[in-house]
Amino acid sequence: MKRRQHRAGGENGAAPPAHHRPGGGFRNPWRDFAPDIPQGFFAWARAHRTTNPRPLDPDPSIFPRASPAFASPRAHDAALTVTWVGHATFLIQIGGLNILTDPIWSERPSPIAFAGPRRWVPPGAPLDALPPIDVVLLSHNHYDHFDSRTARRLARLHPDARWLVPLELGALVRRKGPKHVEELDWWNESRLATVVVTCTPAQHWSARGLRDRGNSLWCGWTMRSGARAVYFAGDTAFFPGFREIGERCGPFDFALLPIGGYEPRWFMRFVHMGPEEAVQAFVELSRGDTHPVMIPMHFGTFKLTDEAMDEPPRRLRAAWIDAGLPARQLGVFAHGESRSLAVRSDDLIQSDV
Ligand code: ZN
Ligand code: ZN
Repeated sequence: MKRRQHRAGGENGAAPPAHHRPGGGFRNPWRDFAPDIPQGFFAWARAHRTTNPRPLDPDPSIFPRASPAFASPRAHDAALTVTWVGHATFLIQIGGLNILTDPIWSERPSPIAFAGPRRWVPPGAPLDALPPIDVVLLSHNHYDHFDSRTARRLARLHPDARWLVPLELGALVRRKGPKHVEELDWWNESRLATVVVTCTPAQHWSARGLRDRGNSLWCGWTMRSGARAVYFAGDTAFFPGFREIGERCGPFDFALLPIGGYEPRWFMRFVHMGPEEAVQAFVELSRGDTHPVMIPMHFGTFKLTDEAMDEPPRRLRAAWIDAGLPARQLGVFAHGESRSLAVRSDDLIQSDV
């Protein structure tokens, strides 16, 4: 299928942003030393995975599971509830809306149902038990973040949901069933009721096949309603943009940051943060604010890379202590766990006027 030429150039013929590839598609604007990604994957597959002894994984039962406590059908406008389904899938209840991030309920993050890494821990809540979904946010097109089977089920169960996706991902999403799809570029905003959703930069890549690398954009998302705000980083390496995201879209109540998928570092460090980098990202995002809570994600659900399944949260806790951060600002969730910030009296006063 012929790919639609990306709209290059800004208003009035201005130069396109640095993350827009000349001639169409997208690139990371910060680093020019990232290895060629397909070559890196082949080198990893050929050399690392076959010769190095890989660390042993624990039994999946070591991952705790919790019963979700999301508000149904909706939370109060001024309350905030976050529930971890697993991997990068969260149900975020903010401004009275129900928002899903990178939904995947499938057994495998793969184009085919019977191949690919298996799910280690079942989803924290059944898909058909979700409250009415208003918004679905996608960070990029990798199979562990945009799952076709889940998208088809969601489109049937929640036909009115708005899907916010990065540039050039809309056509693929529409083919899976969702009707209301909006594409955003980095720093674009979309408003839904009282909630302002902002598409934020990330250092990553995109591909679903062998010849479509960088054809659609990758991103994170922030959500704000009144004084409540959440940052969902999507899939990202450490990059020099976290401070600006904190300045422009913070302060945040919760920062959902990926911590898994980092081995081997020689290759993965250009596409995924490790736990220590996620702590550094949190420090830059929160800029000394003692209120935000970091909630790690992108670990403990699918075996995607070489580190042991239980290593990311262990290393995260150690890095947290090394950084001298208070324990109350770290929220390592069990699959299915929810955390709420209740309605504050000043929110009630604000929402009444
Ligand atoms: Zn990815
Ligand atoms: Zn991923």
